[in-house]
Amino acid sequence: MPHIYDPQNIFARILRGEIPNKTVLETKHSLAFHDINPAAPVHVLVICKGPYVTYDHFAAEASAAEIVDFHRAFAQVCAQVGVAAGQGYRAITNAGAHGMQEVPHFHMHILGGQVMGPLIQR
Ligand code: AMP
Repeated sequence: MPHIYDPQNIFARILRGEIPNKTVLETKHSLAFHDINPAAPVHVLVICKGPYVTYDHFAAEASAAEIVDFHRAFAQVCAQVGVAAGQGYRAITNAGAHGMQEVPHFHMHILGGQVMGPLIQR
């Protein structure tokens, strides 16, 4: 199935400056900000700036520079919010209907500050 990017999604609007965000880090190709509805004491979203819907879309079609930038930003955010050298964290990316993705713009959740529990409910 092709990845069709909706430029009106809320993260695209954040990137255009139409909606405010609590920025943690901004790089050339990536932006990290606090989730508006945190599910844990630490809940930061790292998003790419390019028009990619899911992680597989990003991994398949983004440039090498974008891919490196995103992952380096991810590492820097983990260090900045104190989970990298601390008690750890969970990174989650949701995709599509089965992943229950709410915002169709690729992003990674960094969750920490507490034990995150089992991976999924059975
Ligand atoms: P997902 O289900 O992976 O697409 O998650 C989308 C996440 O974006 C949710 O955790 C929301 O709380 C978060 N979110 C939605 N709107 C905003 C916003 N304006 N600023 C920050 N986080 C947001």
